Amino acid sequence: MYVQLSQRLKDVATYVPKGAKLLDVGSDHAYLPIYLLEKGLITSAIAGEVVKGPYESALANVSASGFNDKIDVRLANGLAAFEPYDAVTTITICGMGGRLIADILDAGKDKLKDVDRLILQPNNREDDLRIWLMENGFTIVAEAIMTENGKYYEIIVAEAGQMNLSEREIRFGPHLMKEQSQVFQLKWQREINKLEIALGSIPLANQDDRAVLEEKIQTIKEVLDHVS
Ligand code: SAM
Repeated sequence: MYVQLSQRLKDVATYVPKGAKLLDVGSDHAYLPIYLLEKGLITSAIAGEVVKGPYESALANVSASGFNDKIDVRLANGLAAFEPYDAVTTITICGMGGRLIADILDAGKDKLKDVDRLILQPNNREDDLRIWLMENGFTIVAEAIMTENGKYYEIIVAEAGQMNLSEREIRFGPHLMKEQSQVFQLKWQREINKLEIALGSIPLANQDDRAVLEEKIQTIKEVLDHVS
């Protein structure tokens, strides 16, 4: 096998429907499209990259993989990488901040009508991304959380539809909250630990600042206790 994919991107790959015509935005080395084609899981792919260096390494990797006829590497900003005639069915946007992913989607939202599925893997600000999805006619059909190299990563799978998320669902993830996986609990326990350390450094006299942190800690504890 040509590509050694990170477990994070392997997890993303499990949500790509079989036979998809994929657009991978921010494709860097084009590892994800190459892996999916090696496994025979997709029909074709566009690897979109906005920066010349990663674009060139994607080009070189696709060439070495022998999938030149199946993967089109394009130097393009976000969703400008595809046109309606490409008939893209699935879009992956991984390894970027949640706000950047939301901005990329927003800048090309008119092109999303014919796309069946978005698979998004924000490195942070997952809440901003969930708000964007909710406000733009998407519903989250699945979520996953995993850990690799000491970091936690969330995967958000969205399709056209309506959803109404509560504040807690926006922050913690509607599916992740329900599933309460061990990794989810570890992530939020780590957040509690950080907040408790911060709380310890705030003087007792500073009641307002303490109350803000105490409330944050309490909310996380309630979410973790909710199902367990
Ligand atoms: N998707 C890969 C992954 O998850 O491992 C690469 C992640 S890398 C940290 C982010 C990549 O997205 C970079 O190569 C960057 O140049 C690219 N990128 C950032 N903004 C972009 C945009 N608006 N359009 C296309 N690519 C973008």
